[in-house]
Amino acid sequence: EAHNVAVAAAGELNAFIVTTPDHALAAAEKVDADRAAGKQLGAMAGVPIGMKDLFATQGVQTTAASHILEGFTPEYESTVSQNLWNAGAGMLGKLNLDQFAMGSSNETSYFGNVISPWRRKGADGFGGNADLAPGGSSGGSSAVVAARIAPAATGTDTGGSIRQPAAFTGICGIKPTYGRCSRWGVVAFASSLDQAGPMARSVEDCAIMLGAMAGFDPKDSTSLDLPVPEWEANLSADLRGKKVGIPKEYRMEGTDPEILESWERGKEWLRDAGAEVVDISLPHTKYALPAYYIIAPAEASSNLARYDGVRYGLRELPNGAGLQDMYAATRAEGFGDEVKRRILIGTYVLSAGFYDAYYNQAQRVRTLIARDFEKAWAQCDVILAPTTPTAAFALGDKMDDPLAMYLNDVFAVPASLAGLPAMSVPAMLNGEGLPLGLQLIGKAFDEQGVLNAGLAIQ
Ligand code: GLN
Repeated sequence: EAHNVAVAAAGELNAFIVTTPDHALAAAEKVDADRAAGKQLGAMAGVPIGMKDLFATQGVQTTAASHILEGFTPEYESTVSQNLWNAGAGMLGKLNLDQFAMGSSNETSYFGNVISPWRRKGADGFGGNADLAPGGSSGGSSAVVAARIAPAATGTDTGGSIRQPAAFTGICGIKPTYGRCSRWGVVAFASSLDQAGPMARSVEDCAIMLGAMAGFDPKDSTSLDLPVPEWEANLSADLRGKKVGIPKEYRMEGTDPEILESWERGKEWLRDAGAEVVDISLPHTKYALPAYYIIAPAEASSNLARYDGVRYGLRELPNGAGLQDMYAATRAEGFGDEVKRRILIGTYVLSAGFYDAYYNQAQRVRTLIARDFEKAWAQCDVILAPTTPTAAFALGDKMDDPLAMYLNDVFAVPASLAGLPAMSVPAMLNGEGLPLGLQLIGKAFDEQGVLNAGLAIQ
C-alpha cells in the first residue's frame, strides 16, 4: 500500500523513469532472513533508495535521461550501486535527471521535467505556472527525498548537481572529495569533475550512506586508494577549536538578500557551536564559472563521442544511409538541445585553432582556483558559503536563457574544479516559504569536517 502511494506521488512529480519495487522488496526480505540467521546487518539494511538514472544497473534500463540511451539495459552494475546493495539497500527505481546530467533544473531530461514538491506560499496544486524546479541535474533525487517518497537517493555532482538540488528542496547532499566514490559504471559527463554522493534528509543519513558508497575501486583509475573513514561514528557538532572561513568573493551581485541573511545566520550557528569565524579571500572565484563551462563541455564532447548508434541504445538508419549518415542521424535524433550545445562548445574549445585560447587557459584558471583554496586552509578548517544565489526558480523561467541557467552554479563550481568535498544543508525558509541551503567546503579528504559543520547548522 505504501508503495502504491509513493508511486502515485512520484508520478505527479515525474521523478522516476522506471520503478523497481521488487528490488526494494527483496532487500527488505533479506533483512528478515539475515536477522533470523543471526547475521550482522549492513549499514543500509533494507533501506529503499532512489538511484539517479546515471548509474548503470544490471538488468534495469539506464538512460541518463536521454533518448540515445533509451532501452539500454546494462549487463553490469556500477561500483557505487553495487556497494549500496552490498550494504543491504534496495532500489525503488531509476530517477529522472537532466539529460547526461547537463543542467540545473531537470528540464533537459528527454523524459520531461521533474516538479518540485515545494510550493510557494499561497500557491496550490500541481501543473500550474507556479511549479518550481527541483534543481538539477539530480532533480529526481531531490524531489523524492523532499517528498518523503524515499529516505535517500544517489546523486552525482560535476558542478553542483548534488548541492544545488539539495538546496532547492530543503535536503542535505554531499559531494565527497574527487575519487572517493568510484566512477565505474556511472555515465560519464566530465570525468575530471564527476563525483557520486548521497542525498538525504539529514547529515547523519548522508554520513551513513556515503560510508556505504565510497571506497577504492581498481576499475576506476582516479579512485582514491584510501580506507573509508568512520564518518557516522565520528559525527560531532562541537566545533570548538575549528575555524570557519567566509570568502569575501562569494558576496556576489545578484545574490538574493535572503540568501545573504541565511549566510549571516549560518555564521552565528557555527559560532554557537564553538567555531571561530574568519574572513578569507579566494581571489580567482569569478573565473570559476567560465572555466567550468569550458572544461566540462570539453570533456563531455569527448565522452559523448561513444554514442554513435553502433554500441548502445538508439540507432537511426535512414534509407540507403551509410555509416556517416547513421552517426549523424542517430546523434541528431538522440541528443537533446543542451547536450548538443555542450558538444559544440566542447569541440570548439578543443579545436586546433582555439585550444590555447580557451581550454589551456581554463586549465590554468583551474590550477589557480585550487591554489586559492590551498592558501585558505592556512587560515581556516572549513568554508561556509551559500549554495545558490537564489531559492528555487519556476519551471520554464531559465530554459530560454542558458547563461542565466549556468549562473545558478556560480557558488558550486569552485569546489568541483578543486576536487574538494562540499555539502549543502538546509538553513532557513525565505519569505515565500521556500528552503535556502548553505554550503560547506572542506579540505581534500576531510568529509568529516564538512559533515560536522553541516551537523551544527542543520
Ligand atoms: N549545472 C551544471 C551543469 O549543467 C552542473 C551539472 C552537474 O553537476 N552534473 O553542468
